Amino acid sequence: MIDDFGASLRNLRLKATPRRLAILDILASEPVYLSPEEVWQKLKARFKKTGLPGVYRNLEALAQGGVIIQIIHPDRKLYYYHCRNGSHHHHFVCIACRKVQDLTFCGMNEIEQEIKGALKGRVISHVLQVYGLCRECSDDATIANEGAA
Ligand SMILES: [Zn+2]
Ligand SMILES: [Zn+2]
Ligand SMILES: [Zn+2]
Repeated sequence: MIDDFGASLRNLRLKATPRRLAILDILASEPVYLSPEEVWQKLKARFKKTGLPGVYRNLEALAQGGVIIQIIHPDRKLYYYHCRNGSHHHHFVCIACRKVQDLTFCGMNEIEQEIKGALKGRVISHVLQVYGLCRECSDDATIANEGAA
């Protein structure tokens, strides 16, 4: 597992430091997104001397390299998530239980057509993240609402 991360970091010309590999390992073993503070807590169990600013820097470098995904939460805080799916796709993020699910549909073709046609522009890149409640959490919300009614 650790070796795979080393190769992906080298491909991105990011130095595969022990801390970066450990951060990737921590994120990859979670089905949910984590805050920098949570990554830091877990990292402290592996490295005696680990500062939060370094964790912030490493997370940012890994996200910029595309190895991990930055989740810009509606609460305006940043979270991070590691996705194994290497092909182009977007994510459905549950704001209640923090689960992240892959979307197979990109939806960019329609937007690109409009930009080409109506706006005469050209798309270079796009970022799309969808927030909501996953199936389990929306079931819970329904039960809670029925209880309140
Ligand atoms: Zn959920
Ligand atoms: Zn994904
Ligand atoms: Zn897309």
